[in-house]
Amino acid sequence: MNILTFDVEEWFHLLDFDATRTEEEWGKYEVRIYENVDRILDILERTNTKATFFIIGWIAKTYPDVVKKIAAKYQIGTHTMNHQLVWQQSQQEFRDDVESSVKLLQDITSLPVECFRAPGFSIRESEAWAFDILADLGIKYDCSIFPAHHAHGGMSSYGAPVPSLIKHNDVTMKEFPVTTKTVMGKKIIFSGGGYFRLVPYPLLKSWSAECANGFRNHMVPRIWHDKKGNMMIGNDGLPVTREVGYLLSYIHPRDLDGGQPMLEGLPMKRKFKSYVGTKGAAEKLRKYLKDFKFTDIKTAAENICWEKVPIVEL
Ligand SMILES: [Zn+2]
Repeated sequence: MNILTFDVEEWFHLLDFDATRTEEEWGKYEVRIYENVDRILDILERTNTKATFFIIGWIAKTYPDVVKKIAAKYQIGTHTMNHQLVWQQSQQEFRDDVESSVKLLQDITSLPVECFRAPGFSIRESEAWAFDILADLGIKYDCSIFPAHHAHGGMSSYGAPVPSLIKHNDVTMKEFPVTTKTVMGKKIIFSGGGYFRLVPYPLLKSWSAECANGFRNHMVPRIWHDKKGNMMIGNDGLPVTREVGYLLSYIHPRDLDGGQPMLEGLPMKRKFKSYVGTKGAAEKLRKYLKDFKFTDIKTAAENICWEKVPIVEL
């Protein structure tokens, strides 16, 4: 089961960089969201791929036509209103922020918003309260877990990077964590963001195949069923003949934008991380989507037998 997601934000929405941290600064930068979203929609169209788009409320508020265009064909979710890390907010601030983004996206699209991704995968064990708030706001699927230690968050106790039910208080949340791979003792997200740009394509392809096939990286039990209870691989109707895997990829519009300006004042390491590989990334994604068949959260969720997935108690 391969799932493709996009975090819809502008090229300057970098975390950990004070000069672009709040809304006050965002209005003064060049607008690139139109061409960057069009580039993605074109690639999806040409490769006949479904995907889920997590949109920042600020983008929706400022460019509602971009959101309408995406929502006409693809599933949308929220990436919060103002792109702040969860653990930097109080519970009330987090609730207000997410609630306003859900309302806004629903108003613009007339569609339910059922998916959420926290900026920087910033829900840790200590922010389990976020699931109570998300469930209360109508979120059914969360995609905020990085199942290992991570710069902005990470949940090492999550277990294998596979869909699970997170239980906290009376809430049960369906979780789609990001795919990780252990390279030289360190867990990395090779199928998204900077690593997607940096990793040479043959390696990206081979690591993705390992996860998609359930080999080596993590073995997933035979948990995939259709609605009638028949065991399936994804939604392509093949009966399960071996262990099947899980691959979740996440890309930002700016990851594919080779012509974006460079933010001034970024430390050397961040500069490299933020801009390496942006020139060839659109072509890389096109190739990736031809080699692997991806779908969106909605379709994936319908094809999982949730009674049989692991349970993560927080
Ligand atoms: Zn983000």
